[in-house]
Amino acid sequence: MEPLLTVKNLKKHYPIQRGFFKKTVGTVKAVDGISFDIFPGEILGLVGESGCGKSTLGKCLLNLIVPTEGERKLNLKDRSINLETMDKAETRQYRKAVQMIFQDPHSSLNPRMTIYEILKEPLLLLLGEHDDKKIRANIEEIISLVGLKPEFLVRYPHSFSGGQRQRIGLARAIITRPELVVADEPVSALDVSIQAQILNLLTDMRDNFNLTFLFITHDLAVVRYICDRVIVMYLGHIVEIGDKLDIMSSPRHPYTNALLQVIPKGDKALLESKRLLQGELPDPINMPSGCVFHPRCPYCKDICKTQVPDLAEKGRQLVKCHFPLAGVKD
Ligand code: SF4
Repeated sequence: MEPLLTVKNLKKHYPIQRGFFKKTVGTVKAVDGISFDIFPGEILGLVGESGCGKSTLGKCLLNLIVPTEGERKLNLKDRSINLETMDKAETRQYRKAVQMIFQDPHSSLNPRMTIYEILKEPLLLLLGEHDDKKIRANIEEIISLVGLKPEFLVRYPHSFSGGQRQRIGLARAIITRPELVVADEPVSALDVSIQAQILNLLTDMRDNFNLTFLFITHDLAVVRYICDRVIVMYLGHIVEIGDKLDIMSSPRHPYTNALLQVIPKGDKALLESKRLLQGELPDPINMPSGCVFHPRCPYCKDICKTQVPDLAEKGRQLVKCHFPLAGVKD
C-alpha cells in the first residue's frame, strides 16, 4: 500500500542564543532525523514523555513550523504534494487535506464566534463554499455526526463542557473532509469518563470517512485502546516502531519496556515509569553521545556510549538499540 504521508530524515533544531549580541551557544535538537510513513486509514500513535519532540513533529507535519531539514510528502489520489517545494495552490490543497485537533478544547475555539461561525470558517476559507444552503446542510450534518444537536449551533463555546468542545473541535477538523488528522493529546485535558467517548468517536469517524490519524499522546493506555501502529519517541529520536499488539506484548527497546511496565494508569504511570528508569531526562542542550538513552538504560554497555545505533529490524518491529530485548516469540 502506498503511504499517505512520507517523512524522511526530518529535523527541527533550535539555536540557543545568549547575551547582548545573541551569540549562538548551543542547539536544541527537538526532532533529530526522523523517518516514517503513515498509511491510509490507520491510526498511528506517536508516544513519548513531555519534551521528547512529538508535538514539534506534529507541527512540522501541519507546516505550522518549518523544519531545519528533511522531506515531507503527501500522496493524494490524483497527485503528490512535496511540502518543501509546494506552491500556493498546493499549500491550499494541503491545508484542506491535513487538519488538526488540539489538546485544549477550552482555548482552541474562538470565544467570540458561535459554533455555526466556527464551523463555517473552514468551508469558506478552504473549500471556497459560499452557498448558504449547502453550508448549513453541511454544518448540520457534521454536528449531528459528532453527537451534538443542531440547536447548539447558535451557542458560544463557553456554554459547552470540555467533552462537547472537543466534539466541536473534531467537527471543525473533519468538515472539509481531510485525508489526515493530526490529533495532539486530544483527550488528555478531559475527565477519564469522557475520554472513552471521544476515542470511540474518533474511531467511528475514521471508519465513516476513511480518515487517517496521527495520534500524539503520552499515554500508552490510550494507545492500546485506539491505535493500529505505534511510534515511540525519546529526545527527538524514534526508538521503536511497530504494530500496536507486537509492541504491547513484546517491546524490544528498553525505553518502551519501561513505559509499558506501568500502564494502564496515564499520568501516574509515567511518574512511576520515571522511577523505574535510571536518572533524569538529560538536558536537551547537552545531548548524550552514542545512544541518547544510554545514561538511563539498565542494559548500557561501552559501545552504547559512543556509537549511535541504527533503527533496524528486530522481529516485526524497528528498534534503535545495539542490544534489543528478546521477544516472547524469539
Ligand atoms: Fe540501552 Fe545500549 Fe540499547 Fe541504548 S543502545 S537502549 S544504551 S542497550
